[in-house]
Amino acid sequence: MTDPTVRAILDVIGRGSRFLLVSHLRPDGDAVGSVLGLGLSLEAAGKSVAMVLEDGVPVNFRQLTGADRIDGRSEGPFDAVFVLDCSDLMRAGAALDEYHQPHINIDHHPTNDGFAAINMVIESACSTTEMIYDVLRAGDIPIPPEAAEALLTGLVTDTIGFQTPNISAKAIRTAADLMELGPDLSRLYRTALIEKSFEAYRYWGAGLMSLRRENGLVWASLTLDDRRQAGYGGRDDADLVNQLSAIKGSMVRIIFIELSDSEVKVSWRSQPGYDVSGVAGSFGGGGHRTAAGATVAGALEDVRRRVVEATRELMGAAGELAESPIR
Ligand code: 5GP
Ligand code: MN
Repeated sequence: MTDPTVRAILDVIGRGSRFLLVSHLRPDGDAVGSVLGLGLSLEAAGKSVAMVLEDGVPVNFRQLTGADRIDGRSEGPFDAVFVLDCSDLMRAGAALDEYHQPHINIDHHPTNDGFAAINMVIESACSTTEMIYDVLRAGDIPIPPEAAEALLTGLVTDTIGFQTPNISAKAIRTAADLMELGPDLSRLYRTALIEKSFEAYRYWGAGLMSLRRENGLVWASLTLDDRRQAGYGGRDDADLVNQLSAIKGSMVRIIFIELSDSEVKVSWRSQPGYDVSGVAGSFGGGGHRTAAGATVAGALEDVRRRVVEATRELMGAAGELAESPIR
């Protein structure tokens, strides 16, 4: 028996012919994979789609078939608007300005605020693309190989190669099903997760030089100057935060990226038992229990002090940092 929410989504798909698909600002593999995976499948089913990411497609995902079809803006009207992998409407940016209440919200963030008419939010899903796969299957909607590749990309990147603590047998089964539809997992894994530019490695070097530790809390900063000196073109951390997860004994990791002299992007990653979504929320962001982020107003040093302080308190509450001296 099909879940009523899935049935409601399939009903909207069945009745409409032209759809808008959007995801969040600063898109990751799951954002790109969700928009492309659902978009290309709906097209294969004879629908017309507009796929929109306001910030465009990051370089690691530009080789995906159909990535060049993703626009920064949309031209309506549409029969329905899908917001994918996006916990709130602010995260979707201007792509959605004219749609005060989008029709369909498919997401796996626990901080999702249920902004749409139909909300499919499943916290235990490893990626939004895993949920989209279930919707397509339930509706017998064909998944062409290029859509399968996009959906698998979301699953591979959100689980950092099937290694995050939330990894489930169901996610692996979904990945296996998607592989059978055509994508080359080995190649996709390498382009989406492993390959980095020379400049990104130099940028990592600068960030690693700034590494600090206080008991189980580890943090690093990436400044505008680091970016300039390394010649790194992005405004992100080049995934350095995921490297910090390998540091033995680290319970919570934080990366600070200086966006300007008055704005800092903060990323948290944690071991199970340390829920960082709340502390990200208290700085105006959100995310998952073990991976969250926020963009915080203030100068780097000031934001770093406030965020480290708040995270230290959270860890204290979680039982860490009790007696040990600061190193
Ligand atoms: P990252 O640190 O890689 O940017 O994001 C980690 C997780 O937190 C992702 O699931 C992302 O969607 C979420 N996240 C990052 N920044 C924000 C933000 O500003 N607002 C909300 N609501 N979620 C965020
Ligand atoms: Mn996701």
